Amino acid sequence: MAGLKLRHIYKVYNGGVRAVNDFNLDIKDKSFVVLVGPSGCGKSTTLRMVAGLENITSGQLYIDNTLVNDVESKNRDIAMVFQSYALYPHMTVYQNMGFSLKLRHEKPAVIEEKVKKAAEVLEISDLLDRKPKELSGGQRQRVALGRAIVREPNVFLLDEPLSNLDAKLRVQMRTEITKLHEKLQTTFIYVTHDQTEAMTMGDTIVVMNKGFIQQADAPVTLFEDPTNLFVATFLGSPQMNIVEVDLVEEKGKVGVKLEGVNSNIVWLKDNTAKQIKNGGLSFEKKYLFGIRPDHIKIAKEGIPAHVEAVEQLGDETIIYTTIENHKQHVVVKAPLTININVHDDVFLDFLKERVYLFDKDSEHSLIGMPSYNKIPCHLEGNELVVGKQRIGLDEEYTSHILARAYTSNIFLAVKPEHVEFAKNEANRELKAKVEFIEERTNYNIVYASLDGASQFLTFRMSKERKYKDGEAISVYLPLDRTYLFDENDDSFFSREEIHENKCRATVSTAKDGKTVIKINGGQTLVYPNMGVEDGEYEFILKQEGAQVVFDKKTAKGIKEDVNRHAVPKQFLTVSCYDEEPQHKINTIFVKIKGFDEYVTLVVNNNFSVYKMPVFKINLTPDCFELKKI
Ligand code: ADP
Repeated sequence: MAGLKLRHIYKVYNGGVRAVNDFNLDIKDKSFVVLVGPSGCGKSTTLRMVAGLENITSGQLYIDNTLVNDVESKNRDIAMVFQSYALYPHMTVYQNMGFSLKLRHEKPAVIEEKVKKAAEVLEISDLLDRKPKELSGGQRQRVALGRAIVREPNVFLLDEPLSNLDAKLRVQMRTEITKLHEKLQTTFIYVTHDQTEAMTMGDTIVVMNKGFIQQADAPVTLFEDPTNLFVATFLGSPQMNIVEVDLVEEKGKVGVKLEGVNSNIVWLKDNTAKQIKNGGLSFEKKYLFGIRPDHIKIAKEGIPAHVEAVEQLGDETIIYTTIENHKQHVVVKAPLTININVHDDVFLDFLKERVYLFDKDSEHSLIGMPSYNKIPCHLEGNELVVGKQRIGLDEEYTSHILARAYTSNIFLAVKPEHVEFAKNEANRELKAKVEFIEERTNYNIVYASLDGASQFLTFRMSKERKYKDGEAISVYLPLDRTYLFDENDDSFFSREEIHENKCRATVSTAKDGKTVIKINGGQTLVYPNMGVEDGEYEFILKQEGAQVVFDKKTAKGIKEDVNRHAVPKQFLTVSCYDEEPQHKINTIFVKIKGFDEYVTLVVNNNFSVYKMPVFKINLTPDCFELKKI
């Protein structure tokens, strides 16, 4: 039996492919976790890192609280089942299943007992004498599972095990694997690109895209409270309708106006209106409005629409409609009995309880359960000022904050699911007042106000905890999951510790009047006279401003001009140490000869240090400071 912890796990392949970024997940013992996402999103890479078949670039992997980054695959007590069953064709089922035990020099009697027991569990006892070619696809997959079971591993890893089976068998094997998980009472981590497989099998589903976890939650929660546009549209069939809208306000009510549809506004419920107004969402911006086909009714009034196609499925009718000025269909799921024909003009009624709103740029969810609570705040020394409250930060926290957090508009950012209810050393109290509560299947959502801040703090609360509207409460923010964001949702908080970027340097004035800065590591920078006295200095490199000089290949890859920043004698050669890609920025950590520690720089996210292990950064005089020693 084993639980797993994945902490800030990154995988960068040779050549610079960032396959997995900042993967954080706690997997409870005996749980069934499914990694799902489109092809290439990093699922297999993650699984292979857990298996020990792939090195972890950075981050920590714990199995049962033991750090296993450097533990060999065979010593991790893990069994893996692949898409291709990879059975030995010349061996019988019995021999295939017992092979790994034989390699471990188990006694024949022990092998027999284990193989027979596994065969019973999988209901393949009568196939033990057959060779793989005498088996059906489903039977072969069972043998592959059996081969894993006999090893009695603590963790089962399954990589698309059903994708070679036909549709009917896949559905059947899905149930079998779920049953097997119940019988074996071990941890399962299962990879698939099939959303139905994921939603029906896992107790926790980890939705991935482009190497990042998008959301990790119970299936029903992913459906009810998708954290962003990707999750909202990836899960659910037919998928959520998304339309571009303006926000409008009239007599205290807030609604969404569908782009180009003049007369019709969908008014949102009062609580949502409050959340939008208090959240400071701009009424000038466009948003993406989402509603699932299940939550639209054909009604007597509402948004006028024209029926383009009708599909009658076994137990429901899918209606494809168009609305004025919208190219995309708005899809409605209706009962089979509905009497609708192609070319009918109808009205669509949107269920207000189940509407979504996403930011067009970050694609984060903004209403109901937002992706993040984003509350304006500022830093004063070691304190974070939120409305009228102050949150004391420890040194561990402040040593990870990027410099620009002290000079920019910042937002405290915490996910609703990370708010805690009991005090401990690693969290900080916030006093709040419950404004209103909404029910969900697995929890309730509480919207609470903070003294002096207009934004609500939204969080999940277990159904057992009974809060009342208006009640004064204390909640706790775990510091390791409390971030500081800028307007673009890029974090000012870095996983790596941030040191002052400093080095000793000698400044001299050349005969032609130019300022020559020789830094301790031996590199020299030359500028038109900077008016600096000759002597010994501390050279402090600012986190922002340095420009990466691209080599030809990299420049082409990211469509940048190769010579844009290549000013002669105004660059330093650096080597890659690590990076932390965000939404628009990439915090990079580089080594520069002469500097005590690695150097932290903030650059555009189109560049990855892993693309160029050694590169140049161009420095204009405002990229650094010189302090006389
Ligand atoms: P998934 O399992 O979600 O389909 P993978 O984990 O296989 O995704 O791949 C994630 C990314 O890493 C993809 O862009 C893929 O091309 C790349 N990748 C996978 N394996 C390697 C490798 N051995 N070398 C370089 N890039 C790789």
